[in-house]
Amino acid sequence: MKHIGTFRINVNPKPEAIIVACGDCRFHNTFDEFRENVLQLPNGTFFPIRNAGGPTPLAHSDLMPSRCKGMLKQIMFLCANFPSIYRIILIGHLNCKYYLAAPEQCQGQGKELRDLPIAGGLVKRFLPTHKVEPYFFEPILDDDRVKVYAIDELKRHDSPIPANWTKAYQII
Ligand SMILES: [Zn+2]
Repeated sequence: MKHIGTFRINVNPKPEAIIVACGDCRFHNTFDEFRENVLQLPNGTFFPIRNAGGPTPLAHSDLMPSRCKGMLKQIMFLCANFPSIYRIILIGHLNCKYYLAAPEQCQGQGKELRDLPIAGGLVKRFLPTHKVEPYFFEPILDDDRVKVYAIDELKRHDSPIPANWTKAYQII
C-alpha cells in the first residue's frame, strides 16, 4: 500500500446527535449550512446516517419491515454506545427518488412530508427520552435555494411491533 497523507482526527468525541438524511447531492450544501447554523452541530458532534431515502423506511414498519428494522438497529446501536447522544434528527426532502424503490402503498402526493412525523413517532417509541426532530427540505421552483421546515408534531406509533424485532434482534 502507498501512504497518501496524514489527516486530522477528533479525539474522544462526544456526539450529541444522529442525523438521518438522504444523500441526494442536490442538498449537500443545504445540509451543511442548516446543520452548522441552525442545528448548531459542527463536525465531530453528530453521527451521520446518509443514505438513499433518509428516514423513509422508519415511516413504513409495516410495508418495509426489514429496511425499517435495519435503520432502527443502527440508531439504537449508536445510542447504546454513545450515551452522549440525545437528539435524533430526521431530514426528508421533496421529490425523493428513493420512493421509486418503495412499495406502491408508500407513494402518493406529499409522501415525503407525510412520512416524517410517522418516522419520528417510531423513533420516539423506541427512544422516548431522546429529542426527535424531523425537518423537511423543499427546493424553491426555478431558484437555487431550499426552504427548510421543522415538523412540529410526531405521529404516535402504536402498530404492533413484530416479536422478533425486540428479541432476536435486540432492538430494545
Ligand atoms: Zn432523497
